[in-house]
Amino acid sequence: MITRFAPSPTGPLHLGHAYSAMLAHDMAMAAGGTFILRMDDIDRVRSKPEFEQQAIDDLHWLGLSWPTPIMKQSRSEPRFRANIQKLAQMNMLYPCSCSRADIENAASAPQEGVPTHGPDGRIYPSTCRHRVMADFQEGDAIRLNMERAVARATPLPHYEETGARYSGTRQLDARDMITSIGDVAVARRGMAAAYHLAVVVDDHAQGITHIIRGEDLFEATRIHVLLAHLLGHPIPVYHHHRLIRDDTGKRLAKRDDARAIAKYRADGATPNDIRRMVGLPAI
Ligand code: GLU
Repeated sequence: MITRFAPSPTGPLHLGHAYSAMLAHDMAMAAGGTFILRMDDIDRVRSKPEFEQQAIDDLHWLGLSWPTPIMKQSRSEPRFRANIQKLAQMNMLYPCSCSRADIENAASAPQEGVPTHGPDGRIYPSTCRHRVMADFQEGDAIRLNMERAVARATPLPHYEETGARYSGTRQLDARDMITSIGDVAVARRGMAAAYHLAVVVDDHAQGITHIIRGEDLFEATRIHVLLAHLLGHPIPVYHHHRLIRDDTGKRLAKRDDARAIAKYRADGATPNDIRRMVGLPAI
């Protein structure tokens, strides 16, 4: 079993991150496997070296260890480009110049029973779908033509979920992928890859067998399974865990500095105090 914790170093780690990282570490250790730390720093503007160092310090303090040197996604760009090339050769990508405002304006008026938003945000209204990769212009995003992708990926893969909300085998559904997800971006303006492609490519490069992360990514997982299948990767097992919430029931965000691990450390908490706070057994 190889698990990973892959924070984006865009803010301090909080209790939710601590839970995710410790759970992935505990599960790997219990199975005699390996826990990997990766820095998902593809967002060059928001990622900061000081957050990366602080995350490493906090995770060591929590008692976690991992093989070094760690992988940084900002260095994976050649691999992202190679995989985009592969999908382009299957003729299922197109360049897209739409801004957020263009997408909002082009989106049709809501119709009953037709979703407007999916796990990748506003479902793209396919404005640029007629374009071909040969027309790619500097500053374009790159999108997956979902209809072609599911046609190519048929029979659609099954995958295993072991999380809190659902445990069992799930299978991708073609209609559902088209209507509730749509043409997701695999690369964003000025970036070699968008989140979905980046995690799939690097999880494969690192041989991750079990993906343990928050249930906010439960639905987006279908995009990851589809991409992995198209790229010919084995599909990992997914475990989506409950989210750690604040006293009002809202899930914690990076800006919740009050729950930053560093803050608890400064206040004299021990790693076992943190484990108890997030509902993990003390060790
Ligand atoms: N870097 C991503 C994040 O910080 C990882 C999410 C995932 O587990 O795929 O949310």
